[in-house]
Amino acid sequence: MIDQYIPCPVCKTQIPIDLHLLVQGVQFSCPNCQAAIGLSAESRPIVNEAVDNFEKLKRLSPQKE
Ligand SMILES: [Zn+2]
Repeated sequence: MIDQYIPCPVCKTQIPIDLHLLVQGVQFSCPNCQAAIGLSAESRPIVNEAVDNFEKLKRLSPQKE
């Protein structure tokens, strides 16, 4: 499931990423210049926590579906 976009550090193209895969260490490549983006091992816990908080916020917001 694609739910986020990250601007390519090289060409600024919006790269579709799955945040949950990203925090698991999966790399995504830019569709324009093929630059690989991914998290370094040491930043994973920080992002994981951010995603966790984001999920909690989503649960708190009213769902219309
Ligand atoms: Zn690029």
